[in-house]
Amino acid sequence: MDTPHSSAFRQTKIIATLGPASYSPKILQGMFEAGLDVVRINASHGSHDKDRTTIEMVREMATQVGRPIGILYDLQGPKIRLSYFEGDPIPVEPSEEIRIAVGRPPETGEIGSDYDLLDKDLSPGDPILIDDGNIAFETISVEKGLVIARAANAGLIHPRKGINLPGSHVSAPAVTKKDREDAFFAASMNVDFIALSFVRQSEDVLELRDLLASKGSNIPIISKIEKPRAVEDITNILKNSWGAMVARGDLGVEIPPERVPVIQKRIIAEGLKMGRPIITATQMLDSMTRNPRPTRAEASDVANAVLDGTDAVMLSGETAIGEYPIESVRMMSDVIYYTEQNSVKTTNSIRRENDTHSIADAVTDAGCQVAQDVDAHALCAFTQSGTTAMLASRRRPERPILAFTTNPTVRDRLTLVWGVRPYQILPARTTDELIEQLDKTIQADEVAARDDLLVLLLGAPTHRMGPTNLMLVYRVGSWTGLEGPHQFEDEDE
Ligand code: PEP
Repeated sequence: MDTPHSSAFRQTKIIATLGPASYSPKILQGMFEAGLDVVRINASHGSHDKDRTTIEMVREMATQVGRPIGILYDLQGPKIRLSYFEGDPIPVEPSEEIRIAVGRPPETGEIGSDYDLLDKDLSPGDPILIDDGNIAFETISVEKGLVIARAANAGLIHPRKGINLPGSHVSAPAVTKKDREDAFFAASMNVDFIALSFVRQSEDVLELRDLLASKGSNIPIISKIEKPRAVEDITNILKNSWGAMVARGDLGVEIPPERVPVIQKRIIAEGLKMGRPIITATQMLDSMTRNPRPTRAEASDVANAVLDGTDAVMLSGETAIGEYPIESVRMMSDVIYYTEQNSVKTTNSIRRENDTHSIADAVTDAGCQVAQDVDAHALCAFTQSGTTAMLASRRRPERPILAFTTNPTVRDRLTLVWGVRPYQILPARTTDELIEQLDKTIQADEVAARDDLLVLLLGAPTHRMGPTNLMLVYRVGSWTGLEGPHQFEDEDE
């Protein structure tokens, strides 16, 4: 068996959504041991009190296991939903008409929605999709406070299900009142990433960024790409975001599903080009919500996202409400590991076009090339802001990127970045002190052994904590005189 259940040298990261199936420390620990890197908390459900308890539990777990776990807080955005109603789901038959009350409580024979501008945004003939598109309707008539729509197929309407209006202009603000409150909460908890749902244009991201800045927060923003407009504006959106998520659930409702795979590949390629981490999300191992093993198509879906070059893959219902949360993470880890170990690299391109022209970029580029030439065991990035580790990741080197930072926030943010294993170290005044910590850390974590060759990326002089300007080929233990024999015979003068 060559697929260990540890995340030892798995480069593509795993995000798992927390929910009733995974809120307990025992399940969380099981998922972590199976390879989880980042948890996702969905602000659409739950309360701040519940989310606070969950965040504290995750932080505590990370301390206990001695490895960082990233926390992604996912804002609901202008997602439109049916309102809650008591009682059984409502059956609809093809051609049956439903009455949707807008901006007022529904009367008998009507259902409500949480979106007060539905009567403004819809016109007769416009499609309305309920429950991820499972029931399709056509708008028949619109008047103030009431939309009447005709069902195209049969189905059961459950309370709080999502409503998509593909083709209509949704005038709801990009960052809703709930999002603002949730974003301030997330900032107060210093989560590692905030995802913004239903991004339409880059200005939406800037609005959230300004909002966070008003509270002194610079938490990285992940733009969820699930609207056709966002796909069109992807370059500008990526420019203003830390990363993006291909949110295939809503994306495949807003646009025809046959377009999703090509869009996924385009977004991942754009992210690689621009150095922005991309998450591929939703229904990756969907049948594992109910079964202990995935379908072959699902295993292929995960493997193909890895081959596309995604930074991370995400589990949703599988770990939030599924019967097999730990098995789902383990399966994902196994598929990723096997794919990375046994596939022809399609994204490997050590020497990328250097578009930033910074010294750090050039030195990192050289370091990746040297690591390949000398067949180094790993690249080691000493990084204050995480940038050097991200620059190295973008080049998709064939060896691990070990990132060393004094900043625990930076360490936790690197959990989502392809190929990077982050560590926290103490501030050092000299390169010797840094290397001493490097030797101890990697030997304790067994990621490298004495005499392994490493390529280090540093900023010199060390005490100034300046940008990366130095690349060094280093043999583990050779500077610090650790116990044991050295093998210098292959080293030229
Ligand atoms: C999606 O739509 O694919 C997604 C990830 O968003 P959510 O789970 O919030 O609907």
